[in-house]
Amino acid sequence: MARHIDILEHPQTAIEVATVTLAEGLPIGLPTETVYGLAADATNPTAITRIYETKGRPRFNPLICHMSDLAMAERYAVFDLVSRKLAEAFWPGPLTLVLPLRPDSGIHPLATAGLDTVGIRVPQGFAGELIRAFDRPLAAPSANTSGKISATSADHVDDDLGERITLILDAGASIVGVESTIVKVEDGELRLLRPGGLAASEIERVAGKPLKRRKKASAAIEAPGMLASHYAPGAAVRLDATDVSANETLIRFGTPEIAGIDKAVAVLDLSATGDLSEAAANLFDFMKRADATGAATIAFSHIPDEGLGEAINDRLRRAAAPRE
Ligand code: AMP
Ligand code: MG
Repeated sequence: MARHIDILEHPQTAIEVATVTLAEGLPIGLPTETVYGLAADATNPTAITRIYETKGRPRFNPLICHMSDLAMAERYAVFDLVSRKLAEAFWPGPLTLVLPLRPDSGIHPLATAGLDTVGIRVPQGFAGELIRAFDRPLAAPSANTSGKISATSADHVDDDLGERITLILDAGASIVGVESTIVKVEDGELRLLRPGGLAASEIERVAGKPLKRRKKASAAIEAPGMLASHYAPGAAVRLDATDVSANETLIRFGTPEIAGIDKAVAVLDLSATGDLSEAAANLFDFMKRADATGAATIAFSHIPDEGLGEAINDRLRRAAAPRE
């Protein structure tokens, strides 16, 4: 069973126990503003191997390395002007930059899946403080079994991985609720590798240039780790529902017209006021709750594709994708 430490009540104990655990090469459940991470020392191959094993994650899928600040990040990766501008504007925050790795950076190739680039993020709050105390980058994917719904609370982490890890730090619900936006500067162009908790329009405003989206068809080939089916609940998922039937739980956004709503197993409101940030923060928790209603299918009403809606719809399309 994993030990839980509340970081608001016992911040110093949390730092002390976490740094000792990480130094032993063990992964921990770590709260961040995006989702809970399964964090381990990015320079230690045994520790990174444990992340992949604990999650059942394919090893060709690189991990994001978390740093305490831009100065630390510059010790591990080479920043171009646009990437530095984005880092200065949005770190700490839900933005990951994919950058050339410095030779002899010390980040183990297992963390980057052998690539010559590294995905780097500076998380807000406690996670950043812990990294500062540990003074090494932490590789951290979301703290859930690979392919399943991401964890946004310590209890989610415990339910899924509690038997397989020794320590979970608890900071309550993640405030952003979806993973970071991943961006890469390539040949002077800004590419969006994954929509996430920082809206694309914000990035474009600071960079002064448009974000190029991946072509949908090539996405699966370029990044097999981000396979079509991901974020999958036990129930089937149906999108853009305008009606609901007796074996379905409905997750609503705003106040849509839904035919047959009285028949639904349950109805959950992601955001009754149509606030996309609130919807993102609720998304994974509500998917788990909808799953727990026992409905055969979770039906989602339409969610607009603007702002954080782009990240929400990306996750929902994967949740709805055919399973292997
Ligand atoms: P996750 O840890 O599940 O939030 O996913 C991390 C994602 O970051 C991976 O699936 C990759 O798509 C992306 N990523 C991490 N590092 C790199 C990199 N060096 N190059 C390209 N993509 C990366
Ligand atoms: Mg994940």
